[in-house]
Formats: sequence, structure tokens, C-alpha cells
Amino acid sequence: MSILISGTVALDSIHTPTAAHNDLLGGSASYAGLAAALSGPVHLCSIVGKDFPAEHSELFKGKGIDTGNIEFADGRTFRWTGRYHENMNHRETLDVSIDVLEKFAPKLCPAAAAAKVVLLANMSPDNQLAVLNQLTGRPFVIADSMDLWINIAREGLLKIVQRSDLFVINEDEAKMFTETSNLVTAGWRLMDMGPKQVVVKKGEHGALLFGRGGSFFATPAFPLTGVADPTGAGDSFAGGLAGHVASLGRAPCFTDLAAGVVRGSVLASFTCEEFGVRRLAFVTAAEATARLDSFRQFTAW
Ligand code: AMP
Repeated sequence: MSILISGTVALDSIHTPTAAHNDLLGGSASYAGLAAALSGPVHLCSIVGKDFPAEHSELFKGKGIDTGNIEFADGRTFRWTGRYHENMNHRETLDVSIDVLEKFAPKLCPAAAAAKVVLLANMSPDNQLAVLNQLTGRPFVIADSMDLWINIAREGLLKIVQRSDLFVINEDEAKMFTETSNLVTAGWRLMDMGPKQVVVKKGEHGALLFGRGGSFFATPAFPLTGVADPTGAGDSFAGGLAGHVASLGRAPCFTDLAAGVVRGSVLASFTCEEFGVRRLAFVTAAEATARLDSFRQFTAW
């Protein structure tokens, strides 16, 4: 089944304690799209400026990703600069240049609008809503977000949460959104906002899945001995999960989503191994399967 992913396509500058790289391909839709493309055909919907390097478009096309719903607008591509300290779990945003993102008005071609799995990757709730309102295929909708939108666009975000089949958010943001310091309470409060399922991401500690059946499933992250750059791990997780749902060819049950959470964790682990998309973009289906198999062994008891 085809997957529609809408979010940001960005040029990222990333500083870690040991290295720094500028103008890397980044953005929520880039990571999610590359992760999902291992499982099925992807339509990417986003906006970039005329300065967007052709090699990045070629990379997407080389992975079979349809770039026809990416608008090339006058102006500069969205840029984000972030820095990690010794503890790679925490980062600070040093600079954001919104540029063309300010005028983003998502427009879907008929094939993208009819996709059966839709990932509303991290972007403004208004843009997410604009995508939702164009869908024609009664898809399974996964939505991701971030603290910025909880702070400045709460009402819009609540509409997205309510209309999601699966709402994905990280631990700190879940607690902030639901005004509790207890993770399990946060998960159930998010469920009360109306989505059918919720995933709370816990970085290197994995993720929790909440469903209407009342049960939840926990998984650790895939254990890595070294993390070069965790940027995009959350987006890769969401893309891997969306890819798994699309690969089923039917509506997912709770157990399917648990398996999707594991696949998302595996794709996120590849992203962390190198800067930007440098590892993720070259993962093969066989490598992903091998890592899923070893994940199964790590977690069996
Ligand atoms: P993650 O590490 O999964 O949280 O995602 C990092 C990516 O999010 C980077 O590639 C950034 O370009 C992108 N990003 C940063 N700020 C925003 C924003 N306000 N909206 C959408 N994407 C963003």
C-alpha cells in the first residue's frame, strides 16, 4: 500500500561534542520518507526553496520516493541548527530559519490524496490539518508533533490528535501536553483526547504503545555501542512504523502496531549511527530484517 508522508524537508547543521556538519539533508519528512521507503511506495509532500540541492531530490527519487508533491518555491529552504552535549539525549536548538516553510500550503495530487497510510510528520498543526482535509482514501493516519506546537498551537494540535488513528509523541512532550509527570498517566490522558492509539517514545529506552483495549506494550530501543547523531531518530521511528503498517495491506490490529513499534525502533537505530541521513539512506531491506531478528533475540526471555 502506498504511504503519504507530509512534513519538513530541511537543511540541518548539527554539532556534537566530537564533530559538526552543515547543510545536511534533514527535516521530519526526509527521515520518515527514507525509513518508510524500505517498505513500500512513498509520496512526500513538503516545500523547499530554489536552493535545495538537486542531489537530495535525486536521492529521494533513487529510493522510489515520489517527489511530485514537494513544492519548489522562490526563497531559501527551511534550515535548522542544533547542538548536542555530552549526553546525546538532550539537544538545544541554536537557530531556525523558517524561510519558504512560512508559505507552505500542502497540495496533494490524486494518487497521494488516495494513499492508504498517511504520516503527518512533525510540522505545524495547520499544515497537518490541510493535508488531512484533502485525503480521499480513508487511510490509517499516524501523526507526530513536538513541544513547539503544544506551546503555540494547542487547539490545532488537539484537532490532529483527535483525528489520528495513532498519535506519536516523545516522553517529555507527552508529559507537558497532559500536565503530568507520570508517563502512564500521560499516555492514557492522550488516549482521552480521542486517538485510537498512542505511542510515547522514550529515546534510548524505547517506546510505549497504548490502545483502546486497555493494554500496552513496551520495547527498549535497539542497543547501539555508539551514537554519532540522534537527529531524526523520532522521525525515522515514525516512518518505520508507517512503513510496517503499509506492508500489512490491511488495517492494523494492536499486535501489528506493536511490531511496527519494533520496526520503528530498528530504523531509528540506523539513523543514530551517522550524521543526518548518511546511514539511513543506504540501509537495505536485508539489513533491516537482520537487525529485527537480532532485536527479537535481545528481547526474548
Ligand atoms: P527529531 O530528531 O526526530 O526530533 O527530528 C529532527 C528534525 O526535525 C531535523 O531534521 C529538523 O530539520 C526538523 N525540525 C526542527 N524543527 C522543526 C519544526 N519546527 N518543524 C518541523 N521540523 C523541524
